[in-house]
Amino acid sequence: MPKKVPFVTKEQLDQIVEQYPTPFHLYDEKGIRKTARDLYKAFSWNKGFKEYFAVKATPNPTILKILREEGCGTDCSSLTELMMSDRCGFTGPEIMFSSNETPAEEFRLAKELGATINLDDITHIEFLKEAAGIPERICCRFNPGGVFKLGTSIMDNPGDAKYGMTRTQIAEAYKQLKELGVKEFGIHSFLASNTVSNEYYPELARILFKLAVELKEETDVHIGFINLSGGIGIPYTEDKEPNDIFVIGEGVRKAYEEILVPAGMGDVSIYTELGRYMLAPHGHLVVKAIHEKHTYKEYIGVDACAVNLMRPAMYGAYHHITVMGKENEPKDHVYDIVGSLCENNDKFAIDRELPKIDMGDLLVIHDAGAHGFAMGYNYNGKLKSAEILLKEDGTTQMIRRAETPEDYFATLKGFNF
Ligand SMILES: *Cc1c(COP(=O)(O)O)cnc(C)c1O
Repeated sequence: MPKKVPFVTKEQLDQIVEQYPTPFHLYDEKGIRKTARDLYKAFSWNKGFKEYFAVKATPNPTILKILREEGCGTDCSSLTELMMSDRCGFTGPEIMFSSNETPAEEFRLAKELGATINLDDITHIEFLKEAAGIPERICCRFNPGGVFKLGTSIMDNPGDAKYGMTRTQIAEAYKQLKELGVKEFGIHSFLASNTVSNEYYPELARILFKLAVELKEETDVHIGFINLSGGIGIPYTEDKEPNDIFVIGEGVRKAYEEILVPAGMGDVSIYTELGRYMLAPHGHLVVKAIHEKHTYKEYIGVDACAVNLMRPAMYGAYHHITVMGKENEPKDHVYDIVGSLCENNDKFAIDRELPKIDMGDLLVIHDAGAHGFAMGYNYNGKLKSAEILLKEDGTTQMIRRAETPEDYFATLKGFNF
């Protein structure tokens, strides 16, 4: 079974923490570039292929620029994500705007930037028309309802999700948009999150390719692209094999050859909006053990908390932990690894078998590169950490400083202190 090994050695990390105090998020440029290159190789059979990195996963301009150098665009769902993409140099067709419950000003900015707007609902046609006007190129988000299965296992529950249009609505939306002058259409769908299966994308592709052929017959529009969105996951635990992007790319190619090509739609571009798959394994949350407590359980208190990585508190998510320098020691202790919030769910790990932890030990919390820093918040007046990039040449660069108390106080009004 695959073992999770940090992308830094203890010696490297000891040096890094001399320069930057813990806690911080550390990103691995080499790993990010390799994942992006492999993705592009896996889909190189499709001429128009493009990955629109889901900015929400890791909204940092330095990361976005690295991805842009590898050919990626951005997928945005808010005003600030659009602004960040614009300021990083992404233009027009390099930006996808896949939002929902969208405020008018966000549609206006997306239209102004020439981003490809992905409509979440049929009522958004009128709303967009009023807010910004209808562009010539547009995408509609599809939700088939029911449950999404791979074989016999239920992967997710689209029928219960707030996103996307029904089958009837998407055909009607295409007709209305065609009337309004749209020349090029896309289809988008996100049916299951964090799938660790090489079957998800190919199965989703089959559903969307068939839908594309039907919609083309029913509405006679030009379908230019199909956006498979996010959802390719990573194994957070060591007991699962990671996805093989080459098998996934090949699976989508087969579906494309079987369904789109015979329908005369062999010119459709495939898009993705991956976030987690692109970045999660390439980020560590680096923390230091600062307290140990022996009561009804054994606790190790660290200098970070759920504010720095919310997934365990929010979803009960597992994140693997390496105690640096003790990789080969027996895991003969059982700890709860906890943060300092006044919330009992502030636990990075519960009943985790680990080697004996001493005060001052550095812990790497794995797979924190996506939906990690980004989900941060300021509960308990806790401040967000710095983000550090480990560059390909082994040097480091701070790509976001840690928040200071003054940042936290900056939005307060009406009282001087
Ligand atoms: C969150 C999101 C993504 C990225 O999802 P991952 O699971 O990180 O790959 C892509 N598209 C949309 C519309 C999303 O909301």
